[in-house]
Amino acid sequence: MQFRDLREQHRRLKKEINSAVLDVLESGNYIGGKHVQDLERQLADFVGARNCITCANGTDALQLALMAWGAHEGLAVFVPDLTFFSSGEVVSSVGATPVFVDVDPRTFNMNPIKLEEAISSVKTNTDLVPFAVVAVDLFGLPADYPAIRDVCKKNGLHLLEDGAQGFGGSIKGSKACSFGDISTTSFFPAKPLGCYGDGGAVFTDDDDWAALIRSLAVHGKGEMKYDNVRVGMNSRLDTLQAAILQKKLRAFAGYELASVNRVAERYSEALADLASTSDIMLPFIPPGYTSSWAQYTIKLSQDLNRDLIRSKMQDAGIPTMIYYPKPMHSQRAFEGSSICFEGCPTTSLLCDSVLSLPMGPYVSEEDSNLVATTLNRIIRDSASNW
Ligand SMILES: *Cc1c(COP(=O)(O)O)cnc(C)c1O
Repeated sequence: MQFRDLREQHRRLKKEINSAVLDVLESGNYIGGKHVQDLERQLADFVGARNCITCANGTDALQLALMAWGAHEGLAVFVPDLTFFSSGEVVSSVGATPVFVDVDPRTFNMNPIKLEEAISSVKTNTDLVPFAVVAVDLFGLPADYPAIRDVCKKNGLHLLEDGAQGFGGSIKGSKACSFGDISTTSFFPAKPLGCYGDGGAVFTDDDDWAALIRSLAVHGKGEMKYDNVRVGMNSRLDTLQAAILQKKLRAFAGYELASVNRVAERYSEALADLASTSDIMLPFIPPGYTSSWAQYTIKLSQDLNRDLIRSKMQDAGIPTMIYYPKPMHSQRAFEGSSICFEGCPTTSLLCDSVLSLPMGPYVSEEDSNLVATTLNRIIRDSASNW
């Protein structure tokens, strides 16, 4: 069994994708052009944002947003302590200081109460000026935007949605990547909507920011390519990847998103017994929210030996992953250049007890059942051995 099977999807879309790729190869146009423009329109429509600017990857997308806002040294940017490294890395890349905020013990997303506490601690205990919040849609579940947006408004902070894992999720019918003042996503192959390499996108309703980001992504271009009015970067989505993504977006919106939600439902039903005895905690989706299930991540009881469970799962041919083994505040790269008030204990606990199961729209009923029965057996066996 694969942790995330990308080959099955390719098998199903092969004909369409091969012909889209050939079209691009024969067109002689490999950067920009109609495929990129059309894809940007289709992505913006799907998400419900006025503007979409594609770029080279999800990390650049975040950095472009912070650059457009003029983030710099002396500013504090609030980032959840449980996320992929990029969410905090970009803050340091533009010279600002990441302030890590603890997460909610049920959703694993940024805790809005902890966010408020961190903002007032920065104001009273540091010389930094609170500037922006990077909220992450971890594992496909949108962050608590109703509450986080209020906190941002009250404190005059920009809100950046890191939707790298969130593309396809929703809150009360509004789609992920429409919740930030600027929102971003990644098309890394294993993300909910992936391409065949690296890719990313920025979304915003603000036309001025959109124009600025378009310029920043192409060496700070002005009226034309060889008129450079600011220092930017070189971050574009390849035409080939845009052509591939057009086909994949259709499959994603047409059936993959529904399919991955059925896989999640099957897991949650099959694991309900283990949850009822508190051996594990199932993923929690708050009312009104939907997830795009970038990961299906359970939390193991502290009595259980995670390493042993993982190795027994592996023996049974079932790969599992740990997202994430380390809180952001413990990453050496941030040592001495970041802040974490009170140590973020919920994140630390989660890093020691989370376990992600094989996931994706093409996980068969047979495989999801096998994963659940195997996990049931391993946990029940380990209990009876003590
Ligand atoms: C994957 C990911 C990114 C970075 O995306 P890349 O395309 O790999 O640069 C940023 N944030 C989160 C939460 C991610 O999962």
